[in-house]
Amino acid sequence: MLRYLFLEILVPVLIFTLVRSILRTLFQAHRNAPVQRQSQTSPPTPVTAGGELKKDPVCGTYVSTHGSVTRKVDGELFYFCSPECRDKYRAA
Ligand SMILES: [Zn+2]
Repeated sequence: MLRYLFLEILVPVLIFTLVRSILRTLFQAHRNAPVQRQSQTSPPTPVTAGGELKKDPVCGTYVSTHGSVTRKVDGELFYFCSPECRDKYRAA
């Protein structure tokens, strides 16, 4: 009779402890998940900040009139993404 009471108390306590530890592990794994997703929330860095977009006549890339490489050919101003493209245009 004493052994029966011991099992009636000990077994539910052991099961409760086991279930609680499993739930705690699952909860901690769930809580750690959003930390890994934070890297995706960073805003995309703009290629050009402000200015009008002009097409690079050499490579076809659209570049901002602010901070781009320019060259005046026959009175017309051309915008280039890089000095390499400007030099290619001059050579052509
Ligand atoms: Zn270019």
